[in-house]
Amino acid sequence: MARKVAFVGGGVIGLASAWRMASRGWGVTVIDPTPGRGASWVAAGMIAPLGEAEHSETAITRLRIAGAGWWPDFAADLVRTTGMDIGYSMTGSIMVAVDSSDQLVVEDLASLHHDLGYAVKHLSASACRALVPSLSPGIRGGVELPDDHHVDNRRLVEALIESCTNVSVSFVRDRVARVVFGHDGAVRGAFLGSGELVDADVVVMTAGAECGAIGGVPVEASPDVRPVMGQVLRLRPTPGSPDVARTIRGVVHGRPCYIVPRADGSVVVGATSEERGFETTVRAGAVHGLLDDARTLVPGIDEFELAECSVGLRPASPDNGPIVGWTGAPGLAVATGHYRNGILLTPITAHAVECLLTGDPLPDALLPFDFFRPGAARGRARSRSDVARTGA
Ligand SMILES: Cc1cc2nc3c(=O)[nH]c(=O)nc-3n(C[C@H](O)[C@H](O)[C@H](O)COP(=O)(O)OP(=O)(O)OC[C@H]3O[C@@H](n4cnc5c(N)ncnc54)[C@H](O)[C@@H]3O)c2cc1C
Repeated sequence: MARKVAFVGGGVIGLASAWRMASRGWGVTVIDPTPGRGASWVAAGMIAPLGEAEHSETAITRLRIAGAGWWPDFAADLVRTTGMDIGYSMTGSIMVAVDSSDQLVVEDLASLHHDLGYAVKHLSASACRALVPSLSPGIRGGVELPDDHHVDNRRLVEALIESCTNVSVSFVRDRVARVVFGHDGAVRGAFLGSGELVDADVVVMTAGAECGAIGGVPVEASPDVRPVMGQVLRLRPTPGSPDVARTIRGVVHGRPCYIVPRADGSVVVGATSEERGFETTVRAGAVHGLLDDARTLVPGIDEFELAECSVGLRPASPDNGPIVGWTGAPGLAVATGHYRNGILLTPITAHAVECLLTGDPLPDALLPFDFFRPGAARGRARSRSDVARTGA
């Protein structure tokens, strides 16, 4: 008989993993009151292994680069099976500096790219404007990031829901009240807010920033994730607004700002990064700051319609790396903590969840990001060897 898995949370991570497991013949349920409307809906959709790189994050940088490599096949598969356009664009990105200190930040990132083995293409101010004519004449210069792409994350979510539906994933639009364990200690399923039980042999916690708050999970099997608030704007084109030819990442007087184009001419401007717990109120100051920085990069931003201001909660672990693996509670796995890179890491994570549940080896780049590394669990996690003995 087919094994049954329930995903608690249907953001990009839960949906893509559910699609993969149902394609393998498993009975799959995604439990979420509003599938796809968490951080995955708010995100900008950058697939940016290099623009996000930092000197101190070697393993995460390696993971981002490996994760980006999974995207072309994943996107092609999704488009082929759904017939939907997900706005996957491989035009690359550009990183630009506004003042001389910003230029040092950009140069520092370029030296990291060089150390990682990438050919760095420095750009003069006029070369930047040749690539993106709508950039301000005040830009000092920048670097090209030809390997940093983007996808329309909202279309991605819609396509993942469609792909799941096509392979008979069941959607239960409710919250999980608590995960249920049998007398033998193994997972039996999940109780919903309505009181109904969803039976499952395996439960995977994919509830993003709320993964650490799922009821019924022992503290030693609960991931230590916190929400990092991101405020973001969506601007719609008007007849007078400029074309933004590719993703612009700017350093604007020390502040990061990005402008990510969509196929219909609209743009996403982001983003703040704030430690405010589960707060989701859009602040006027954030809107002002984002618009101010975006128009420093592209003065024609003034001509767009301000269509949406929204907030998303990035799921962040103490070391900012994802947490993907068994938890030590038999039958209970987790895939969360993708922080700023959940869209980028969707394909490799879905593949890793598939490997985990079918007993295949995980991709090497994800091995440092299991549940048993220090700090990943809220309580003291069991050891890897204990888990091997329980067969979980
Ligand atoms: C402003 C912003 C910009 C970003 N830009 C990018 C970017 O350009 N590139 C990139 O790679 N990443 C980006 N990210 C990060 C990315 O959005 C996240 O890492 C990713 O969406 C996390 O996906 P997820 O499926 O884990 O979580 P989510 O999308 O948050 O999904 C979690 C789901 O779990 C459900 N849930 C919660 N609790 C329960 C429960 N008890 N029972 C049932 N369901 C539950 C919620 O309803 C939700 O639908 C950005 C994030 C933000 C906020």
